[in-house]
Amino acid sequence: MTLLIIIPEPRGQKLAEILREKKPDADIRLWPDVGNAEDISFIVTWKAPTGEYSKYPNLKVVASLGAGVEQLVNDPSLPPSVRLTRFADESLNQDMADYIAGVVLSRRLHLIDYREYQAARHWAPKPPEQGRQVTLLGLGEIGSYVGTYLTKLGFSVSGWSRSEKNIPGVKSYHGPEMLGTAVAEADYIVCLLPITEETVGILNADLFSKCKKGVFLINVGRGEHLVEDDLFDALQQGAVCGACLDVFRTEPLPDDHPFWQHPRIWVTPHIASVTAIDRLAHVVAENYSRHQKGDALLHQVDPDQGY
Ligand code: NAP
Repeated sequence: MTLLIIIPEPRGQKLAEILREKKPDADIRLWPDVGNAEDISFIVTWKAPTGEYSKYPNLKVVASLGAGVEQLVNDPSLPPSVRLTRFADESLNQDMADYIAGVVLSRRLHLIDYREYQAARHWAPKPPEQGRQVTLLGLGEIGSYVGTYLTKLGFSVSGWSRSEKNIPGVKSYHGPEMLGTAVAEADYIVCLLPITEETVGILNADLFSKCKKGVFLINVGRGEHLVEDDLFDALQQGAVCGACLDVFRTEPLPDDHPFWQHPRIWVTPHIASVTAIDRLAHVVAENYSRHQKGDALLHQVDPDQGY
């Protein structure tokens, strides 16, 4: 049984070093030094080159570097018998909670405006934004943690998911028919959904029309969740007052993309919550042991659901 890492330098090298320390008896290889492809039963990757998986006839498990798995679920070279896992971890949850709280509080206290005023020596106190209602689209590993965190900061939190949840202090809505109700009272909507056939383009004009006028949008899911032209229209009409976007259809965001210059769009470069390699190594080492023993894996993905 051999584990292959298909992650570019320097992160791939770092993961290999930590895994070799944690599992000195394991055969750990770093792509492209694959050796005999028949040895490989376990791959850790974000995205492998096109057609790569079909080179490994004994492949049993592919572990995603990140929380999202769309790049694996939609790869036709991955046989359905291969088990897929993703990364989930408290550090990922906490980083995302800090990012979302940071954005909401910055907007509430006008911190970005004051930074601009400072440059103009402009003294202009404003009362904080009053709205404290946050709706999280997605109440999974990350969304449920973020929801609990925001309640501790005094926000009123609702969440929307496929199945009903019971998270103390977080109002749960579920299923497509409850989406409109979930967003109706929100001052902030936060997309923490995986990208699937059902969620692609979910941040669209129809959704914005169901929100309270002047909602603030935070998208940390995937760029494909957002219909960009609908956001521009909603900003123009005041249906959406501003947006903070961390994920984009093309990354890095192209130089000529209008998001860069928009006065009410904040752009961050997909940093809301980044996988820490030492934490990933911990999960991978555990799952590699489980795979060797034939046990159930941590954070296994259901390819039919797409996440
Ligand atoms: P997760 O544990 O799989 O949770 C996904 C949530 O979305 C679940 O609550 C699920 O509902 C809900 N959901 C999925 N499809 C739905 C649908 N059709 N209708 C309603 N709800 C639906 O995932 P996670 O670990 O929280 O991560 C979520 C996403 O965040 C990732 O897929 C990734 O795209 C994004 N992410 C971004 C960054 C960044 O840096 N920007 C970092 C990490 C993750 P159920 O609970 O009912 O299944």
